[in-house]
Amino acid sequence: MMSNTVVHGLKAILSGGADFITFEENKPMTLLFIDWHDNLVGVREHYEKSLIPSYIRCPGHKICPLCKKNPGKYPAMRIKFRVYDPLENKIKFISLAKTHIKKLNDDFTLQGVDPTKVLVTIFRKGKGIAETSYKACRYIVDHTGAEPKLAVPSRELMKNLPDILPQITPHSPDEIAGFMQATITGNAGLGDKGNQNPQKHGLFQKLYTPRTCNG
Ligand SMILES: [Zn+2]
Repeated sequence: MMSNTVVHGLKAILSGGADFITFEENKPMTLLFIDWHDNLVGVREHYEKSLIPSYIRCPGHKICPLCKKNPGKYPAMRIKFRVYDPLENKIKFISLAKTHIKKLNDDFTLQGVDPTKVLVTIFRKGKGIAETSYKACRYIVDHTGAEPKLAVPSRELMKNLPDILPQITPHSPDEIAGFMQATITGNAGLGDKGNQNPQKHGLFQKLYTPRTCNG
């Protein structure tokens, strides 16, 4: 049984609970797409490095505290979907911009491939938002034995898919205000301001200041 309540790994925790794939250059990944076609969902998302979680799904410009704080900075549209990673035998999540989704879809269409039926390999080229491009092609089974033979997920695994709803539901204004407040409070606790209890504060510093870290 897969659990929806336990989160493993720093990356997963910072991204808000799910195992998101980050494609890297020269590291193609072979996957089976689970949500595609009519099941794709896009959501507007803020990226705020200092907040936990860092990716905040926008509830709408008029009610969103992050939009209010920074009216000129629009959240980016991100398409979210689940995929199967046969190397790890695990369901993971992908979050991509619309332009990249379009490119992948064009590749699939050109090759007559349905990524929900056969394994596909995704290649990333370039770093940064502007330079990044993706390429997709049908997975070619390696008959030399040099690579593991990859297969589509078992029926059992497909029956226990992690819910995508938490990844596409916008955060509420209250939740977002809470994330922002938590950051402010966290910083205040470590600095000189907002120091209500000097003794307790000193102990906290002693316990949590890493000895080898320079800031
Ligand atoms: Zn917003």
